[in-house]
Amino acid sequence: MADEHTIYDDLGVPTVINATGTKTRISGSLMREEAADAMRDASRAFVRISDLQQRASELVAEVTGADAGYVTSGASSGLSMAAAACLAGDDLETMARLPDTEGIPDEIVMPRTHRNGYDHALRLAGATIVDVGTNDYHLGTGSENVEPWEIETAITDETVAVAYMEKPYTQPPLETVCEIAHDNDVPVIVDAAAELPPVENLSRFLEQGADLVAFSGGKAIRGPQSTGILAGDEDLIRSVARQHLDMHAADAAYDPPADLVGADELPGVPRQGVGRSMKVGKEEIVGLIRALELFIEEDHDARLREWHERAERLESALADVPGLETRLEGGDKTDAVTQVVATVDPDRAATDATGLVGALRRETPRVFVGADRLDDDEFTVNPMCLADDEADYVVDRIRATLS
Ligand SMILES: *Cc1c(COP(=O)(O)O)cnc(C)c1O
Repeated sequence: MADEHTIYDDLGVPTVINATGTKTRISGSLMREEAADAMRDASRAFVRISDLQQRASELVAEVTGADAGYVTSGASSGLSMAAAACLAGDDLETMARLPDTEGIPDEIVMPRTHRNGYDHALRLAGATIVDVGTNDYHLGTGSENVEPWEIETAITDETVAVAYMEKPYTQPPLETVCEIAHDNDVPVIVDAAAELPPVENLSRFLEQGADLVAFSGGKAIRGPQSTGILAGDEDLIRSVARQHLDMHAADAAYDPPADLVGADELPGVPRQGVGRSMKVGKEEIVGLIRALELFIEEDHDARLREWHERAERLESALADVPGLETRLEGGDKTDAVTQVVATVDPDRAATDATGLVGALRRETPRVFVGADRLDDDEFTVNPMCLADDEADYVVDRIRATLS
């Protein structure tokens, strides 16, 4: 592990031991070898990108139960393209002018407690987010964050979609939100970027009524880092394709795949749309296809058991580090992957949780543990992206830093 030579050594860039899970800022996950091989193979011949997206669409449809699918440049770009599709539909003029939405409906309704940094992706396409409800449940000032009627009354002639941030604990239930949206003829966009595993989630949100669902291709699927999947309604995916593919050509010679683009319904050829700056190359599409096929075939229960056992070993190894209290979390319905939560007692350890996290990140190789709970003097150790020898190494470094 630490003494293995990598291309990053040649470049003089420190590598990372990833004990925090699939986080984009430390490069997500390790791509499957077969996906990397597929990318090299893909680089050896030309292909019409629309043909390749059509093939990817069929696979995404098959594994999600959706009508159609599309490979985007990350789940984040999937959200931008979903918003673009809901804004423009099949209107070429709107496609040509996004993200300028002056004079046209451009609102996306979102429960306030679903707002997060990634919703910038929706605004990138030109949408304005209208958030509804309160923070009552999370603050303990009430039993609900948002009532269904609040979503209903927020939907007006200006609304193009409802957006939903999927976590096992998000409220109201997706089915309820979809019912309200559909009663008002508005589609629902779901950010499910990190909601795999469990694998069942590939189809679950669509079954619950979602019109477009975005997943990350660079997290648990272990495809290329810069890929994502958008799955859902055929007409909306067509709008995505029309606004993403570079296909401006002489009208007489314009002949993209019928299912994916539906060019017959258009009065002309779409120009480079708002998605053009979110290009996905043939190598990425092929790598994602291969990774998704392998992800589907994987023994998911065995993988979860492996992570659980590694988390148990990590927890027992960390339990006797002075000043550290550990417990296991997850491995249940709300959170598929078990991880270790460790509380640092700064009076008994050499430093506090913040000091530990910072020191580990400055080492060579860098060691990243989970740092979302430093206010509680807690850090987390996630088994997903660790080999067994790396797990031992992480325990040693934590012990050495706290002693
Ligand atoms: C990771 C993540 C994204 C972005 O996914 P990318 O594939 O990196 O673009 C969006 N939303 C949520 C909730 C995420 O966790």
